[in-house]
Amino acid sequence: MTARIIDGVALAAAVRVQWKARAEALQLMGVKPGLAVVLVGDNPASRVYVRHKIKACAENGLHSELHQLSADVPEAVVLERIRALNADSKIHGVLIQLPLPPQVREHVVVGAIAVEKDVDGLHVENVGKLVAGRPGLFPCTPSGCMVMLDHIGAELDGREAVVVGRSNIVGKPIAIMLLARNATVTICTSRTRDLAAHTRRADVLVVATGRPHLVTGEMVKPGAIVIDVGVNRLADGKLAGDVDFESVRAVAGWITPVPGGVGPMTITMLLANTVQAAERIVSGHGAQ
Ligand code: NDP
Repeated sequence: MTARIIDGVALAAAVRVQWKARAEALQLMGVKPGLAVVLVGDNPASRVYVRHKIKACAENGLHSELHQLSADVPEAVVLERIRALNADSKIHGVLIQLPLPPQVREHVVVGAIAVEKDVDGLHVENVGKLVAGRPGLFPCTPSGCMVMLDHIGAELDGREAVVVGRSNIVGKPIAIMLLARNATVTICTSRTRDLAAHTRRADVLVVATGRPHLVTGEMVKPGAIVIDVGVNRLADGKLAGDVDFESVRAVAGWITPVPGGVGPMTITMLLANTVQAAERIVSGHGAQ
């Protein structure tokens, strides 16, 4: 079997058309959805991600602002900036680009973002809403993975889903989203004994570890859907996923490529979250 490719670039383009239309509808009401990205320091990878986010806003009818702060900025100054953005009516989404330098505590600054503007879905109130099955703003990468699964008509109800990785931004939220769709979910970590024994049972396998080529063909059930979240820069400068694409492609039913898979969907869902945040704020249902 050769797996079918889930083309994240094409799907992202199609989904963005819908969100662009919703952004335009808001603009007819006098509100242009606005995203503020706060970048602390000059991590080169972060700069690239931020550039892509700002560009996507411009292309899809959203206002965006980059708030760049130096690597040695005190935490209090970051908090002050977030409070100003919380109060700014041009801004409907506030995103703190991670990672942060050590003097700026992630949970403190993320916790300072207004819940209704938390477009990365990392505020504990939005995490709670995700777990409780209530509407809220949820992390972009797992939301994008779910859109991909729905796009290919993946059966989730009663199926085995295995998530490799337990980060707050990918592993845990995708596990909750799959559970909400009645999948039987297993979460594997670096402590898991016999990873392959788990991955081989998966009808849907989501890998988010930051370990290039961790999952190989013999670890995958024939016909499985494999979502590769990993983005790793190899020594030769090329990008690789956490999945060994060639060997897994020969076994799986569906697979996402890297690049061109989950990445474009992540940015698409950031646009979606910002437009949704603007819609809720405009309708007066911001933090419900
Ligand atoms: P983290 O480093 O926060 O988490 C990695 C997780 O993988 C941890 O839970 C860790 O386990 C687990 N892990 C590490 N090694 C193994 C192993 N050998 N076997 C099983 N589990 C293992 O990473 P993120 O979740 O933030 O990111 C994961 C990858 O996804 C990265 O490559 C990142 O660049 C990429 N990414 C891509 C995005 C996109 O838009 N395409 C968006 C976000 C991330 P433990 O908890 O035990 O340490």
